[in-house]
Amino acid sequence: APDNGGSSDSCRVRVSVRLRPKNSEDLAHGSDFDSCVELQPESKRLKLKKNNWSCESYKFDEVFSENASQKRVYEVVAKPVVEASHAFLIPSVLEGYNGTVMAYGQTGTGKTYTVGQLGKDDPSERGIMVRALEHILSSMSFETDHVAISYLQLYLESVQDLLAPEKTNIPIVEDAKTGEVSLPGAAIVEIKDLEHVFHILQIGEANRHAANTKMNTESSRSHAILIIHLQRSSRIKEENSSLSNDTHNIFPDDLPLVLKSKLLIVDLAGSERIDKSGSEGHMIEEAKFINLSLTSLGKCINALAENSPHIPTRDSKLTRILRDSFGGTARTSLVVTIGPSSRHYSETSSTIMFGQRAM
Ligand code: ADP
Ligand code: MG
Repeated sequence: APDNGGSSDSCRVRVSVRLRPKNSEDLAHGSDFDSCVELQPESKRLKLKKNNWSCESYKFDEVFSENASQKRVYEVVAKPVVEASHAFLIPSVLEGYNGTVMAYGQTGTGKTYTVGQLGKDDPSERGIMVRALEHILSSMSFETDHVAISYLQLYLESVQDLLAPEKTNIPIVEDAKTGEVSLPGAAIVEIKDLEHVFHILQIGEANRHAANTKMNTESSRSHAILIIHLQRSSRIKEENSSLSNDTHNIFPDDLPLVLKSKLLIVDLAGSERIDKSGSEGHMIEEAKFINLSLTSLGKCINALAENSPHIPTRDSKLTRILRDSFGGTARTSLVVTIGPSSRHYSETSSTIMFGQRAM
């Protein structure tokens, strides 16, 4: 069975699997329902059954059963990217480093539930976007720090602003010196509290729905990207004054040090293969581009997992947007979502392989 022998926390991509509970379609099969997935949470393994004779076992950083709470998923998948448990040893967003959290999987397996669920009235339902913002807001000092968000949709290699829907072809620019990626023209909305977060995310969702209706496409065909921008100012701490006196101190004690970082939370397009036969023109274009960005993401993640010095981020807009937020000092966490039914064995299998290649 394919097995990389487990992975340590030093891996640059943390990969978890989340199994969706049976849905009404699964339940309609009654006693005929056949599950192809078995989880072994103690050993963080997943068994995938092809048929009665063939079964493979895969190890992940974490496997979440259908009973896993949104809170637990946040704590394992995203929290370590937002705030490192051992400050200074591991980079995190609150300490000024960039990070990325992504959900990958077939449509209907729980990507949006995992990252995008608002849970306005039921805090236990909140997904990663809301929890990350809640966590960040509660860690900030309002006199000195700022948090702002941009919310974008990437469809057919075109970047649309979900907070300012009239902006449809937003360029992706990379600073030649710093490598910093920016999206000139995209709205950046400063956030003050959780009520404001709900308000803005709801606007984004409504705009996404409207844009997709207008283009006559499903939201499952596009990537939704939330960018959380953080700017923290803190006074230089005592330790730094111990810097050797003959080196020029670039942070005079009386000037604030500004830490800037970004957290990208990405609800990827459905990973299912699109049937190209007999589809209309725009469907074929769509299939090509969705495959392009997911394939190119896969290549980048493989390169990261292999510690390759070259991460091929130039091939698609998705990976160009992610460029400064994964690899290097940035932390990346991927959650792959699957359903239990053996009817979707081949999609489930390819989703699991995508996750395995990232480790
Ligand atoms: P995707 O975004 O991958 O297409 P969704 O997040 O929209 O999938 O999930 C499909 C349906 O299943 C939704 O109604 C969602 O609320 C439900 N669902 C998904 N995952 C879970 C879960 N872990 N627990 C409860 N309901 C879930
Ligand atoms: Mg979705």
